[in-house]
Amino acid sequence: MNNANPRIAILGMHLESNAFAPVSTEDDFRKSCYFEGDAMLAEAAKPAPAMPGEIPAFVKAMNDSGPWQPVPIIITGTEPGGPADQRFVDATLARMRAMLAAAGSLDAIYICNHGAMTASDREDPDGELYALAREAAGPRAPVLSTVDLHANITQRMFDCADCIVSYRTNPHVDRRQRGAEAATLLRRLLAGERWEKTLIRMPISPPSVTLLTARGAYADMINEGQRHIGPDLPVVSVVGSFVFGDVREGGITILTYGRGPGPKALALQLAQFAWAERARFCVRLTPLAAAIARAAEAGHNGERTAVCLADVADNPGGGGRGNTTDILEGLLAARVQNVLLGNFVDAAAAARCHAAGAGATLQLTLNEGRADAYGREVPVTATVLALSGGVVVGRRGVYAGRTVNLGPAAAIRVDGLTMVVCSRRIQCADPVFFETFGLDIGVFSSLVVKSRGHFRAGIDTWYPDERIIEVDAAGLTSPVLERWTWKRMPRPSWPLDADTQWRAPDLSTL
Ligand SMILES: [Zn+2]
Repeated sequence: MNNANPRIAILGMHLESNAFAPVSTEDDFRKSCYFEGDAMLAEAAKPAPAMPGEIPAFVKAMNDSGPWQPVPIIITGTEPGGPADQRFVDATLARMRAMLAAAGSLDAIYICNHGAMTASDREDPDGELYALAREAAGPRAPVLSTVDLHANITQRMFDCADCIVSYRTNPHVDRRQRGAEAATLLRRLLAGERWEKTLIRMPISPPSVTLLTARGAYADMINEGQRHIGPDLPVVSVVGSFVFGDVREGGITILTYGRGPGPKALALQLAQFAWAERARFCVRLTPLAAAIARAAEAGHNGERTAVCLADVADNPGGGGRGNTTDILEGLLAARVQNVLLGNFVDAAAAARCHAAGAGATLQLTLNEGRADAYGREVPVTATVLALSGGVVVGRRGVYAGRTVNLGPAAAIRVDGLTMVVCSRRIQCADPVFFETFGLDIGVFSSLVVKSRGHFRAGIDTWYPDERIIEVDAAGLTSPVLERWTWKRMPRPSWPLDADTQWRAPDLSTL
């Protein structure tokens, strides 16, 4: 132990796993974010690091708050997808364990995880990672973690960490703040503070569209929790969960850390509030036909930025493939005018556009040779407006200041529809995805985004919430939970099951 100059290991494996999506492969991780050892710190020091924003902020806040010795282990992560490939998980955890062992004595460990990862053969790789961190830290050195607010907090994660801090904004624009907060809290733990911890798990697994934080029941819970923060209650994490993980240990979890009776009482109060307000976790979507009709009307009337259609069922940020066609086919059939759509993920189509060149008109079949239940083959006559290699730096919202790679991409026009076709699955949450092609969101009559909610922080200057329509279309992230076959989620579960029951635990048992 060297508290004057503490040695702090940093590691993490970021994935939000959708049980219904294809396996997330080693290649997915390595192409998105994989840094080991000093390469992690080098990337974190760049102006637009290609890694979760928590780590650069954590490193900076530690640098600013006194001496320390970073011990970078591994940070890896990829866009939400199916369960992580088991062999890659096993290899990564083994590598982390070996690097931690080789690192010698540690004063603390910071885990930067998403917290809703499953693996192809096992359900709780996050818990395994937390356990190996605890093992390396020993019983005394603190283990502190940040997680997404869509984490599924397992008992093992909770038991192995001294403190878990979750995001408080959805769209997630507070990742850097939470990374910096982790550093502040870790300094307190290093100074010898310890906190009692409380976890309450609710039988409520909300669709993500009901977990926004600008308003709603979830926002009220977060705000109420933060109102009580003080010297004896440093951390309140209201974790919304990720229903598509389909895990045994899911559901909203309320975590408090602190001293005295206050933290436990607050956890119970928030749980009772969630139960009383559970009707607000039910989802209301706009039927597809009505959404298309509104976009068509706006175009024919010459309106600008009239309506944004959110294709919430095909959100790459929740495991969607980015290639479903319900809305696309509806727009084309309605002969809409002046509509902008992004991002349609089709690497073969993007490659054909690159081969044809800017200005060319070509016959293109979207989803050619890879049609599935949600994404049909759609033949179009497309004019290539502009081409891009796809590497951009996010400008607004959740990707701001972060390097993002769409892969080879093209802007094309098909009748009255202008669309971005790209090669990698990235949800359409930043105006830069259009601006990189010279496209101005403001001149279109309406916008279609393949994103569940993060787009709101990127396009709010054009589309405030009241002009956003969440469309009921088909796709891997449809929030209509009744349409899915759940295998592991304990039932009954609200809002899926109307007969869900919950009794408040006795305060003395917490
Ligand atoms: Zn999230």
